[in-house]
Amino acid sequence: MVLAKAAVKGADKLFDKILIANRGEIALRIQRACRELGIKTVVVHSEADHDAKYVRLADESVCIGPPASAQSYLHVPAIIAAAEVTDAQAIHPGYGFLSENADFADKVEKSGFVFIGPRAETIRLMGDKVSAKAAMTKAGVPCVPGSDGALPEDAKEIVRMARAVGYPIIVKAAGGGGGRGMRVVHTEAALLPAVTLTRGEAKAAFGNATVYLEKYLTHPRHIEIQVLADEHKNVVHLYERDCSMQRRHQKIIEEAPATGVNQRALTRISERCVDACKRIGYRGAGTFEFLYENDEFFFIEMNTRVQVEHAVTEAITGIDIVQQQILIAAGRKLAFRQRDVVRRGHAIECRINAEDPTSFLPSPGRITSWHPPGGPGIRVDSHAYQNYFVPPHYDSMIGKVIACGDSREQAIARMRIALSEMVVEGIRTNIPLHQELLLDEKFLRGGTSIHYLEERMAKRKGSG
Ligand code: ADP
Repeated sequence: MVLAKAAVKGADKLFDKILIANRGEIALRIQRACRELGIKTVVVHSEADHDAKYVRLADESVCIGPPASAQSYLHVPAIIAAAEVTDAQAIHPGYGFLSENADFADKVEKSGFVFIGPRAETIRLMGDKVSAKAAMTKAGVPCVPGSDGALPEDAKEIVRMARAVGYPIIVKAAGGGGGRGMRVVHTEAALLPAVTLTRGEAKAAFGNATVYLEKYLTHPRHIEIQVLADEHKNVVHLYERDCSMQRRHQKIIEEAPATGVNQRALTRISERCVDACKRIGYRGAGTFEFLYENDEFFFIEMNTRVQVEHAVTEAITGIDIVQQQILIAAGRKLAFRQRDVVRRGHAIECRINAEDPTSFLPSPGRITSWHPPGGPGIRVDSHAYQNYFVPPHYDSMIGKVIACGDSREQAIARMRIALSEMVVEGIRTNIPLHQELLLDEKFLRGGTSIHYLEERMAKRKGSG
């Protein structure tokens, strides 16, 4: 296997076979990228995903365990064994699951396979938000003001640090992810209990009790910069995405470009991201996440993997980000420079979740009727189909609808039409919520903050 890897790099040739260590829409997305590149695919799956269409579409599939993620999609030895028995050369981790697990990346490489992503040490550095912020500060990327490192044990010292930052503050877990491990604190009286609670949760959820403080920004937007870096020190950015429409720190609508952002600040921050990648020797696709308030960008974290919302960037740049990940992992040089990255028009993505649109309770079960939309500028990335059973064990996202057009208005109009055509029966989805938001005056104006959706829902509850 080590030889196989060397051969791929030496001859600068692509892989023959890639193992996809994920499920759902991203497993299908990676499969499509591989097929276009002429690469065979192996899909690993749990017993719950046995009948999924993308499992049947793959060249090979291996059942790696029962439905619980811990025994299947997170079970490293089973995944490595599947790569060995199928003679795969590289492993694509997708997003979520093991995608940002440095030990997994290490294990993959030490077992002789190529990990399609950054080096394990980079994942480790950026996976710990405290060390990531330190690295970014050093690279000249501005961060949200805060405790400049992990909180100490000493209560008095914590109180002093919080005073220096100024309330409201947010207590965050260094190992946090997926919008979990965060707690907002408005008063000094609430500080120490919040720190203790977040530490406990962080230890249980991420195996790391380290927490830190940040100023809690009251009306920021979430703006992120997509980058691609090869092994030959070539780095480009693919511009920004606005992911401010969130609930419980989870994105539900994303778009590119971001409306009404200071273009000079944006250009400067994008260049800083490219410089930072060079400095840390970044490899692969990555995203720098920022909060943007009063014309200023503040780094919050870096995602060292493909993101759910990568498709909006693909729509306006014409660059296939997943294929780029594969080409970079095979040792290829980026085939374009910064000046070649031209964006055109506007794209918007709605995440379609199997959940009740008002209570947000998950709604797994059988899809009895499924009609995805189409037409100009519409892309649907979904593993669902008529009669597909949405398993209760995983994330509730069953697909994404991406609409693009010459302008933001056209992209939104196309999305409205798409969602009005879309039929999903047998389970509940958040499509009605999207439809409501696509008519919302403030959203249409653009530039709403990360708190907008929750404030809007709270108002509706109050008046109902
Ligand atoms: P995760 O890794 O769980 O996604 P992030 O650090 O990226 O966590 O933060 C997720 C979201 O939480 C942000 O998009 C934003 O909505 C909110 N958030 C994080 N830090 C702050 C902050 N300092 N002030 C206000 N909101 C914040």
